[in-house]
Amino acid sequence: MRFLTRHRNAVLLASLLAFLSPVSSASPATTAVSGIRHWSSGEYTRVVIDLEGEARYEAGFLPADPGNGLPPRIFLDIEAAEVREELLRAPVRVKDGLLRDVRAGRNRQGIVRVVLDLERESGYRVFDLSGPPRIIVDIDSKGSGSSPAAGPAPTRGRILVMIDPGHGGKDPGAIGPSGLMEKDVVLEIGRLVRQQLLADGRFDVRMTRDSDLFIPLEERTAMANQAAADLFVSLHINASRNRRAEGISTYVLSHATDRESLELAARENGVPVAKLSAVKFIIDDLSTYGRKKESLRLAKSVNDSIVRNVRRRHGPVQDLGLKQAPFYVLVGARMTAVLVEASFISNRTEETRLRSRAYLETIAHSVAEAIRYYGEKNGALASAGT
Ligand SMILES: [Zn+2]
Repeated sequence: MRFLTRHRNAVLLASLLAFLSPVSSASPATTAVSGIRHWSSGEYTRVVIDLEGEARYEAGFLPADPGNGLPPRIFLDIEAAEVREELLRAPVRVKDGLLRDVRAGRNRQGIVRVVLDLERESGYRVFDLSGPPRIIVDIDSKGSGSSPAAGPAPTRGRILVMIDPGHGGKDPGAIGPSGLMEKDVVLEIGRLVRQQLLADGRFDVRMTRDSDLFIPLEERTAMANQAAADLFVSLHINASRNRRAEGISTYVLSHATDRESLELAARENGVPVAKLSAVKFIIDDLSTYGRKKESLRLAKSVNDSIVRNVRRRHGPVQDLGLKQAPFYVLVGARMTAVLVEASFISNRTEETRLRSRAYLETIAHSVAEAIRYYGEKNGALASAGT
């Protein structure tokens, strides 16, 4: 994953093939632009360009050219590429106040140029994900100035929580020694958290999925941003080659704090560790983009709550604590965002616990408790009454 961000007038080079030599633009096509997806909210637009194979690309910004009737544009030049005919014929209309449309064309030999016509000059960032390969462009109305999330905590009285049960559909997540699947466990926990928060009466709750459905990582964050959620809580179960590894940890987006965190993020992202190690330089920028301080506070609260309640109701559990790692699903989240790894499915004892409804209820109760505590501490629930 490489990021280009906040550069307006420079043409920058990025690559999905960080460790290979450049591909000549005269090479036969090795990839194709197969689709363009997008999500909008008032202040934010995410565009995903789906590719059929890994690609090298350049991204850049072009200022408005009134003489030729051209708006400000972001462009991506994708090397050794083809493009589907229907994308050539018809631009994707967006018209959301930030982005007018996305169009694709064959540029120089072997180069496909994707152009994002902006409705006004805005800040943006470009990064790529693999498995399957795609390029993501985030456009932000707040421009390239201060952090968009630097304002005060929400004060509208109700907190909108986006619960994100990890994996789903064709992606089972981690699988335990007796066959229990992470995707099923986290969906159950997610539904229980929702039930708890709705019963409280002071929360609005949405879920990125409420069935056994595959959703790409970038779409989960986009859903939270589009809904203008106040909190994003991604639910996962840990796994390790070391079958004795056990315990509870909760993450925020940042550099990996240790080797285990890096390996975990690579597994959750569906990429090799080497690919993740190469992206350290982008993280400082990312950390200022969301609510880092609030996220750390919520993550600590969630982790403490789970550990305390599991010990009280189910017996000893290891407290692995608050950690940081580059999880793709947290990239670009504009709100307080945490990722919970609630036990190890690879550990026989913890897998047995995860099969018990009472244990999942304890996890869910703890997450909901931490969210309530966070809301009260941040004053967001002060006017909501009980
Ligand atoms: Zn997971």
